[in-house]
Amino acid sequence: MTETARIRTRKALEAIATYKPGKGRPGKVTKLSSNENPFAPLDAVTEAVAEAATALNRYPDMVSTMLRETLAQTLGLSAEQFVLGNGSCSVIQSLLLAVAESGDEVVMPWRSFEAYPILVGVSGATAVPVPLRPDFSHDVEALADAVTDRTRAVLLCTPNNPTGTPLRRDDLTYLMERVPGDVVVLLDEAYFDFDDPTERLDGTELIETYPNLIAARTFSKAYGLAGLRVGYAMAQVSTIEEVWKTTVPFSTNALAQVAALAALGEAEAVGEQVRTIVAERERVCETLRRAGWQIPDTRANFLWIPGEAGRDAVVAACEDAAISVRAFPDGVRISIGAPEENSQLLAALEGVTPR
Ligand SMILES: *Cc1c(COP(=O)(O)O)cnc(C)c1O
Repeated sequence: MTETARIRTRKALEAIATYKPGKGRPGKVTKLSSNENPFAPLDAVTEAVAEAATALNRYPDMVSTMLRETLAQTLGLSAEQFVLGNGSCSVIQSLLLAVAESGDEVVMPWRSFEAYPILVGVSGATAVPVPLRPDFSHDVEALADAVTDRTRAVLLCTPNNPTGTPLRRDDLTYLMERVPGDVVVLLDEAYFDFDDPTERLDGTELIETYPNLIAARTFSKAYGLAGLRVGYAMAQVSTIEEVWKTTVPFSTNALAQVAALAALGEAEAVGEQVRTIVAERERVCETLRRAGWQIPDTRANFLWIPGEAGRDAVVAACEDAAISVRAFPDGVRISIGAPEENSQLLAALEGVTPR
């Protein structure tokens, strides 16, 4: 028997919980818990990955040159304005490591993405959560009020995970006017593609208007590459250079790079999938609202049922029907799946009294 290891660790880790994976369930489960694209990867993607697999003995391009150039062309920016990473979670982590340390603060809406407090915690800084408004939108007045001279970053999420509520232009304008120019503002656009194109904010334009803004996007959701891990952020070049400094070398692997390139080349097919998911979202929300459920306006590929009572009833019914959803202390988030999965969900909830 060896002794239990007792290594000295950073004080910041005391506040971070150990990750405990959920208990898997035997048999087939309909997974509506992780906001993934429910459709199988496109042929162009699997073919590009298979081809690149023959060269796996080589390191990938460390700075993802082709992918940055293609993103630049697609989005009308320069290649130097992009930083790539192992999913946008890792890019957000790199950003926080670049700007914040022990004694600093990071202001964020809450409830929002469950990774934010962990990523802030790992940087050593203190997370300052600011409650959403009663309609689950960002409370920009309170977010701006929470900014002090210790603040090193403000996180924004639109549409917000897990509530689905979007941040709109007036609120962003107000916030950007109040946040000091040397405090970075992250606009997390993980669900950008599912939002209404006529109303949504667009990081590619906003980084030109606001020098301290950085926008993050991912290939994990609309582009269906969650398993490969690739995401990026865009900002002015001086900000991007700082984020590269804290990025683990080669964190965007070779298969992720070619898959993202192939997916960008299939904009039409991706758009078609997104339109299907958005139409399904409207069908599911309308059906549930007609049955009496209070569901906040969602512009993402998921919906939010607020409240503990509703959560418990929904989780129990879904468990019986072998559907996995994501429960939080104050509500439950349900991802929009393929049409037949959504019908299965609606059938499971038919017998549940809304609360
Ligand atoms: C899914 C998600 C991300 C990105 O996830 P990656 O798979 O790491 O790219 C980022 N922000 C939010 C709010 C998300 O829900």
